[in-house]
Formats: sequence, C-alpha cells, structure tokens
Amino acid sequence: MSKLIYLDNAATTKTAPEVLEAMIPYFTEYYGNPSSVYSFAAQNKDVITTQREIIADTLGAQPNEIYFTAGGSEADNWALKAAAEAYEGKGKHIITTKIEHHAILHTAEYLKTRGFEITYLDVDEDGLVNLEELERAIRPDTILISVMFANNEIGTIEPIKEIGEIAKEHDILFHTDAVQAFGQIPIQVDEYHIDMLSASAHKLNGPKGIGFLYIRKGVKIRSFIHGGAQERKRRAGTENVPGIVGLGAAVKRAAATMNARAIKETELRDYLIKRVLEEIPYTRLNGHAVKRLPNNANFSFRFIEGESLLIRLDMAGICGSSGSACTSGSLDPSHVLLAIGLPHEIAHGSLRLTLNEENTKEEMDYVVEQLKEIVQNLRNMSPLYEDFMRKEKK
Ligand SMILES: *Cc1c(COP(=O)(O)O)cnc(C)c1O
Repeated sequence: MSKLIYLDNAATTKTAPEVLEAMIPYFTEYYGNPSSVYSFAAQNKDVITTQREIIADTLGAQPNEIYFTAGGSEADNWALKAAAEAYEGKGKHIITTKIEHHAILHTAEYLKTRGFEITYLDVDEDGLVNLEELERAIRPDTILISVMFANNEIGTIEPIKEIGEIAKEHDILFHTDAVQAFGQIPIQVDEYHIDMLSASAHKLNGPKGIGFLYIRKGVKIRSFIHGGAQERKRRAGTENVPGIVGLGAAVKRAAATMNARAIKETELRDYLIKRVLEEIPYTRLNGHAVKRLPNNANFSFRFIEGESLLIRLDMAGICGSSGSACTSGSLDPSHVLLAIGLPHEIAHGSLRLTLNEENTKEEMDYVVEQLKEIVQNLRNMSPLYEDFMRKEKK
C-alpha cells in the first residue's frame, strides 16, 4: 500500500471539498468587511447570520447564542475565564475532571493563580466521571462545572445529560468541551442542560482556526476580546468570514452525514479493535467499550514504547498518535491514561487510531498486519519482554 492511511482524525481532519468550495468566494469575491456600510460588504453580515443559524439549529440553540472564536482552545479559555470573572462574586470554586484537554486544564491552573479553587474529578477505569463524586464535590461557592463531552484520547463519552441535571439542580453553570463530540454525535443543549459549549471546525472536516462558543441566553459573561462591536461586543475583531462560512458548511455536512458516518465508522472501528485484541497478545483497549466515539480506538501494547511504534507505523504509511511521554513533551505519559489507572509502563505503550468515513476495511487489514509485525519486532528488542517470556515459560 503506497497510499497514506490517515488515522489521526482526533488531531485534525481533512477540509471537505465542499467546505473549501464554499469558502473560496469569501476570499476572492466577497472580501468586504462585514462592518462596512456599503451593500457589497453588508451581504457578508447576512452570510455570517446564516452560519449562526445553521450551527444553532443543530444544537437546538438560538443563533444569537453562538459566538465565533478562533477554535476550540479559545472557546475553552473564554468559557472558563469569563465565567470565573463574571461569577466570582458568588464564589471561587470550579469543578472539572482529570481527563480534560489541556485547553481546560491549563486554563484552570491559570485561574488557580487568580485565587480560584479547582476540584479535579477522578474517572473510573473506562474514563467515566462518577456522578456521586460530582455531587459530593459541589459546594455553596461552586460557580462552574466543566466536563468534556467526549475524551479526545480514549473516546469515552461522558454522562453529560446527568451532569447537566445536577448542575441545574444546584444552580451552577455547566460548560462542556464538545470539540470531539460535536459533529460526531447528536447534542441538544436544552435536553442536556448545557450553558456553554466549545467546538472547533477543524475536527469536523472544516478549516483550522475557527470555532465557536455557545453561551446560553442569560448567562452573564464578560467580553473576551475588547475592541469593536463584533459578536455582540463580546469578542471583538473583524470576522473571519471565510472561516465562518467553512465552519457553517462543515456543520451542515456533519449533521447531514452523521448517522451514516457513525454506523460506518463504528463497524470499522469494532472490526479493527476485535482483530487487534485477538491477534496481538498483551494488548488492552483503553476507553469505554460502548460509550465511545464512533471513530476512536485506543490501545496499550505491553512491553513497547508508543513513540517507537508511531515511527515504525509512519514508515509503513500509517498516521496515528500516542499518549506516550515524548509526544506530550514531558516525562509523564498522558494524563488521561494515568487517570484511568494505567501504570506508567503500560501507558507508555499506547496508540490512538481515529478513523474517518473514507477509511476502508482493506486499510484496517493492512494496519493490523503492520501492527502485528511492528509490535512483535519491538517486543523482541525489549529486555522487559524477554524477562517476562522467560518467567512465562517456567
Ligand atoms: C482539539 C481539541 C481542542 C482544541 O481545539 P483547537 O481548535 O485545536 O484549538 C480542545 N478540546 C478538545 C477535546 C480537542 O480535541
């Protein structure tokens, strides 16, 4: 196989051709500033409104509750920092989890330096938040609960509706980082009692550098970027019109294809998981078996190093990702894999493969064959494995 097999769709996705096509005229023809008065530019204002409507529609939200941002990280930062600032009169306690994306975790760390107290909820071995632990963590001064909709590493989908109900019962704001879930699984903000939600276009076949934060009407939230009157004066700056058009087109496409994609990807994912677990010994699946994103597979192979595995897979034309130390730029393996209770040495041998709807069974077969060979080769070089096998034989 000479073709590239891209299995890192949780990191980013290919911009869909129809998305790109929708964007191009907003660079070349309709380049006016939406704030300008002449009709040539004013039509750009309308196109932005239309995208807001498309997005709001998929969430059961109102168009004026959608605020465009420069992606998921910005939306996460905005949700936490602005809510903290707007509600600190009520209290300075925030609840989140140990498995959030760094856009949440590092923002929470920053807020800690500003006098906020953060509770990081544990998760179980499948990556699920415990609702009773959440209830116990709530205090009179809790102002915000932020729990991700689905985890980007292990794909586990959290009990968002139940968490939303608990937040509502206690009159606490509820934010969810839905960057991985939005466009993959259905989300309704009212049904789930979500007050704020982050999403990003490049995770759903849209362009990079554009996303949005849903903010429920009535939620007090300060401006994130001061300047012009864009985004209801809350996020200033000339609108990224092509990006917004691309985001809208990607959302429309994702909503229209969601069911078919989920069925196809789940089937392919389960085929991949089954073969890997059956054919490669001393391997485990990370994340919940069923409550998981349709496109996510995450394995730990004992006795090997995820980084070496990625390099060898790359030589075989396969793009994946790992929660091993080198990838994260620190000595510790992924905080998510540690939070689900994996010992360091097992977390180090992990591999995340995230599919898209263009992947085929043939590709999965090739990936399994390559994996079998590479894992065995790496194990043959491992003193730990040699030791283990010697003890097994006794
Ligand atoms: C990718 C990702 C982000 C960051 O989104 P960007 O648009 O890349 O800034 C945040 N949260 C999760 C869960 C993600 O997967």
